[in-house]
Amino acid sequence: MAVSDHVDFNQFMDGVKRRNPHQPEFVQAVQEVAEDIFDFIQDKEAYHEAQILRRIAEPDRVISFRVCWEDDNGNVRVQRGWRVQNNNAIGPYKGGIRFHPSVTESVLKFLAFEQTFKNALTGLPMGGGKGGANFNPKGKSTREIMRFCQSFMTELYRHIGADTDVPAGDIGVGGREIGYMFGQYKRITNRFEGVLTGKGLEWGGSLIRTEATGYGAVYFLAEMLATKGDDLVGKTAVISGSGNVATHAAEKIVQLGGKVLTLSDSGGFVHDPDGFTQDKIDWVKAHKTHRRGRISEYCDAFKGATFHEGKTPWGVACDVALPCATQNELLGEDAKTLVANGCKAVSEGANMPTDLAGVHVFKNAKILFAPGKASNAGGVAVSGLEMSQNSERRAWKEDELQQMLKDIMSGIHDTCRQYGDQGGGYIDYVKGANIGGFKKVADAMLAFGV
Ligand code: GLU
Repeated sequence: MAVSDHVDFNQFMDGVKRRNPHQPEFVQAVQEVAEDIFDFIQDKEAYHEAQILRRIAEPDRVISFRVCWEDDNGNVRVQRGWRVQNNNAIGPYKGGIRFHPSVTESVLKFLAFEQTFKNALTGLPMGGGKGGANFNPKGKSTREIMRFCQSFMTELYRHIGADTDVPAGDIGVGGREIGYMFGQYKRITNRFEGVLTGKGLEWGGSLIRTEATGYGAVYFLAEMLATKGDDLVGKTAVISGSGNVATHAAEKIVQLGGKVLTLSDSGGFVHDPDGFTQDKIDWVKAHKTHRRGRISEYCDAFKGATFHEGKTPWGVACDVALPCATQNELLGEDAKTLVANGCKAVSEGANMPTDLAGVHVFKNAKILFAPGKASNAGGVAVSGLEMSQNSERRAWKEDELQQMLKDIMSGIHDTCRQYGDQGGGYIDYVKGANIGGFKKVADAMLAFGV
């Protein structure tokens, strides 16, 4: 007689913790999803019989490999690389590659897990994966970056493919790194195929891929405000980060009539009470992406701004907040401060930037709060469109892509509303995103049998 997995929530989480020792980020991500899924599947026996929750909290495959490379002084250096292929129930594994010293197996497992639901929410046929290495690109020369990317791909190439697993960029991996990795894949396999997204426009990339994550997070924010009959005109925004996601989120806020007060990096945050105009945002883009400088140097370039060393920007009073830097950068106390200072809406540009305590604060306060798996899905959505263009061997026009991105973000908002509407005008977007993403993946898994 088959057993179903009717256990209580604490039992389930104890099992997750036991099976994933020393993996706090992964356990946290599973808990955030399971908190919502548990009630939803309570009376759905088919999911229990197939042990769907248990199976979905277990990556399909964790590939771990050594990456050797030579630095400019001729020293041999050794790093660990990974690709987590989390779930391919609804399409090839898809998700970015992160190069950062904080990368561990736990971090990549959490990101691959989140990616699975995010990708499902886009409505495009993409499974979930994530990869990376504990390599610190900071201070490395261009040739060192090139050699590292080539060595990384020399291991990774055998596990990926346009219909198998399609990586992209993430923290520490932008257009330059994708170029070096794509070049190495092509060199080794002799195949020119859509195996990576975020490619250069000359060699199969898509228009608006660079802007998509940040723009999408603001479109989602605008959708949330619209449910209250409100918009971004005249709203003050606090943003963390100063990379691709943060700068494009800032740009879109300004375009929609809002005022951006802060940007940050790992050294601290800059507060510009006059607001970051397009010129100033362009300066940040050039300074951070091309010159690889520090955000503190903004204060030398623009009068009136102040730098707050070692601090996050959540103490600055604002109408809306967009955490766009990294995981667990907005904690319970920060969430309380934001709410106390009158913040009405939070749209996550990064992946899991708010810790569990913070999520609970926002939920209890019933403010508009979008989890990254919903609000930052614009990036991977345009990656999905890049895959389609590669398969078709053609390139779509910018206005077509802009419209598709807007439609996808609006579709995700509809899904969140469908599964997260709590009545009385309150939409629990975390619940809506978790259930909406889960249902699609779980139903595909059911269809395939065990
Ligand atoms: N790294 C991005 C994310 O977290 C994009 C992934 C992709 O385009 O595959 O969603």
